[in-house]
Amino acid sequence: MIVTLNKNISKKEIDELIKGFKDKQIEAEFIDFNNNKLLLLFGETEMIDENALSNNEFIDKAVRVSTPYKLVSRNFKEEDTIVKVGDVLIGGKDVVMIAGPCSVESKEQIDEICGLVKESGANILRGGTYKPRKSPYYFQGLGQDGVKYLVEAKKKHAIPIVSEIPSIEKIDEFKDVDIIQVGARNMQNYELLKALSKIDKPILLKRGMSNTIEELLMSAEYLLKGGNPNVILCERGIRTFEKATRNTLDLSIVPLLKKLTHLPVLVDPSHATGNWELVEPMSLAAIASGADGLLIEVHNNPTIALSDGGQSIKVDRFKNIVEKGRKIANIIGRDIK
Ligand code: PEP
Ligand code: MN
Repeated sequence: MIVTLNKNISKKEIDELIKGFKDKQIEAEFIDFNNNKLLLLFGETEMIDENALSNNEFIDKAVRVSTPYKLVSRNFKEEDTIVKVGDVLIGGKDVVMIAGPCSVESKEQIDEICGLVKESGANILRGGTYKPRKSPYYFQGLGQDGVKYLVEAKKKHAIPIVSEIPSIEKIDEFKDVDIIQVGARNMQNYELLKALSKIDKPILLKRGMSNTIEELLMSAEYLLKGGNPNVILCERGIRTFEKATRNTLDLSIVPLLKKLTHLPVLVDPSHATGNWELVEPMSLAAIASGADGLLIEVHNNPTIALSDGGQSIKVDRFKNIVEKGRKIANIIGRDIK
């Protein structure tokens, strides 16, 4: 159960409420969430009558949330969360296009592709700087220099940027990155999530390759519980027995997530399929399924890409996805700006 307290309640009154619950064997945890004072109640909350609770002068409302995730649940917050990044709204009426290379490879490469994807309809630029590769012999990313080149491209082309953070120690290095991505491999790195819950920046949380919807939502819960309400979820394919595609794109998660949570949901058709030929059809299907945006790998010259060339599309194909995607978005009452 989530109890929303009156904004003027004092610390002493909160402590008294907590003690009152404790006397009834109910654990109450106070959190400050998005300028709201909340008590999260755990234990045998069935015995509590929410109407009786809201009679208390210090309590505005009480909502029963039976799922293990609370703050991310639609039961707790009915209206969609809209994450604002510069002028871009993620989770609103428009489907947001995020595009760029798997990795930042040089200052010139990211500058060129940034200009091209922006011109073709990208609202946000992506670029990996610390790459989580399965082999230590593969390109690991340009690290701090990569972040620097990405930030330079952002400033020159006036477009927000997103990049994946590898660990807590790099948080300061990402101070000019608009959205911090938590990659599939880090979805359950709870210490990283706790640290990111304390910063004032949107977090793009990718689904782990073997994680359930509930686990994804519980990871998002860490971010919200720690005080960061600006969380964007991303389906990027899961591991199955199928080998024909890099992962299996679980598109049914999109409408299901939209029902279970108020957070925006993106789809990454590039890592989900691992095959550039499948990126366009899956992008269009993702828009039709209700995704709030796409995260697509677009490279200047995929043949010589230092990572994920096989799933990266060229700029003209990206432009095509934006144009066709807009028509599909229009059919379901949305748009692509
Ligand atoms: C990426 O987006 O660059 C990436 C590595 O994705 P994932 O974490 O989904 O594998
Ligand atoms: Mn990649």
